[in-house]
Amino acid sequence: MADKGLLLVISGFSGAGKGTAVRRLMELHDEYALSISATTRQPRQGEEDGREYFFKTAEQFEDMIRQGELIEYAQYVGNYYGTPKKYVLSQMEAGKNVILEIEIQGALNIRKMFPEAVLIFIMPPDAKELENRLRQRGTESDSVIRARLSRAAQESEFAAQYDYIVVNDTVDNCVASIQHIAESEKQRAPRRLDAIMQIREELKVYSEGEN
Ligand code: 5GP
Repeated sequence: MADKGLLLVISGFSGAGKGTAVRRLMELHDEYALSISATTRQPRQGEEDGREYFFKTAEQFEDMIRQGELIEYAQYVGNYYGTPKKYVLSQMEAGKNVILEIEIQGALNIRKMFPEAVLIFIMPPDAKELENRLRQRGTESDSVIRARLSRAAQESEFAAQYDYIVVNDTVDNCVASIQHIAESEKQRAPRRLDAIMQIREELKVYSEGEN
């Protein structure tokens, strides 16, 4: 059976470039699986149901909550966002490192439920760059951009609770950092108990007859 994959939670301010970084990571490495969230927000231009998100009405979303289909959910700037449970658990079982690209409330809930999850916070190089990136995206109104910047100010207070901070100066650096973190996390002793048990078993013959 494949070793169980990591649960990688990636958060960052809206506009920090985490979506682009995650897409590039997925293109370069096939050991990752990206969880697709459900949301009640309207699709942006170019977004497709089932690709960026599963787009739901509030009634449908609340039904998913009631049926226990989500591992976590949160409200963000007036809309629901949540992570469907089935895909995440089955992909981890299959050995994939599952990425949840979610905001802070959800991330901290995941940490409570899965203490072994790895939480990565992606930061822009500075606040002005964050504003520029949000404006360049050109998909949101001025008031939504301001709401997202104000939310970023609140979220910055929680960044210290993450395991890793990655500054997204360039997409390539950001992707390389995430990949290094995942590789190192896989080697942590509590995740390598199989290797420890195996070598202990093999070494037993050498200690027989001693003492
Ligand atoms: P956006 O509307 O820009 O696509 O996403 C807004 C925020 O919601 C982002 O910070 C994104 O990471 C977060 N988000 C997306 N999916 C989920 C989810 O399933 N759960 C939670 N808690 N946050 C999510």
